[in-house]
Amino acid sequence: MRKNIVAGNWKMNKTLQEGMALAAELNEVLKGASLNCDVVIGTPFIHLASVAAAVDSAKIGVAAQNCADKESGAYTGEISASMVKSTGAAYVILGHSERRAYYGETAATLKTKVELALKNELTPIFCIGEVLEEREAGKHFEVVKQQIEDSLFELSAQDFGKIVLAYEPVWAIGTGKTASAAQAQEIHAFIRQTLAAKYGQEVADATSILYGGSCNAGNAKELFSNPDVDGGLIGGASLKVADFKAIIDAFN
Ligand code: PEP
Repeated sequence: MRKNIVAGNWKMNKTLQEGMALAAELNEVLKGASLNCDVVIGTPFIHLASVAAAVDSAKIGVAAQNCADKESGAYTGEISASMVKSTGAAYVILGHSERRAYYGETAATLKTKVELALKNELTPIFCIGEVLEEREAGKHFEVVKQQIEDSLFELSAQDFGKIVLAYEPVWAIGTGKTASAAQAQEIHAFIRQTLAAKYGQEVADATSILYGGSCNAGNAKELFSNPDVDGGLIGGASLKVADFKAIIDAFN
């Protein structure tokens, strides 16, 4: 009923030429493969149009890693949701912990970005997750609930149905420390209950909730075998095709 998704987040890695080579290699290895999940790659803005034109869109969706909180105008250096859409990208990663921590993105800014993404028919991959001190203080449930409520809970049920969530404990991102399968399942189930309480069980059951944080070829299968883990948002391991393909194959 809900989709399994493996989404790569290249972050600020790869020149245009390197990114094109990576996308071409991924396209090649997925040719003829039968997939049990949707595959998405989140590239830097300047790669989007070239990558979207080069890959088989039936197999690989393309995501931006951010978009502006304004529609258009005098906002030097910003990229709007409509510009992202015009490249052929279908997704936008929003609320990544690096954007929240290093670029001061607030719940209110993210709420606007989500609305603009939806208005432009992009699928937001909305990231939530606690920092280590919050986990150690046992506050992770309330932190993720608040993040969801503050940026997403004014959406209609119909619009909420277009959102993909990515639970990414900040202490696991790029650190090599992964949440255990049990920790992931526990909080994913809590997130789904939170959605059910607001939008009803049907919407909650139809929402894909991805896990992110040092997910790799070695741990993907165990993480994805949890009933409430519907795939992964993959940073470092999405930069090597063999590793990313092995994570995609965790669904086979
Ligand atoms: C991420 O940046 O979303 C991420 C999960 O990174 P990594 O897989 O490298 O921990």
